[in-house]
Amino acid sequence: MLTCKEFLAELSDFLDAETDAAIRSKLESHIAQCPNCFVICDTTKKTISVYKGMKSCTIPEDVHDRLMAAVERKIAAKKESRSTEA
Ligand SMILES: [Zn+2]
Repeated sequence: MLTCKEFLAELSDFLDAETDAAIRSKLESHIAQCPNCFVICDTTKKTISVYKGMKSCTIPEDVHDRLMAAVERKIAAKKESRSTEA
């Protein structure tokens, strides 16, 4: 059986759909017996799918504007508090 270290080294291959079936089955047998690596693998998979989902949809313009305004207000507030301190 693979060690956790070996599993993590191969994790990106495991998540790659084109990985060799032999390697994949080795990694699968590891997560079947190791809850730790199962969780890591599961979380990584979810993170990747969220990331891929985000790439395909852009932020609506009004949301973007509000976001930028909020960021600017935050920066301005920081500057103000800094000038009162000094
Ligand atoms: Zn493990």
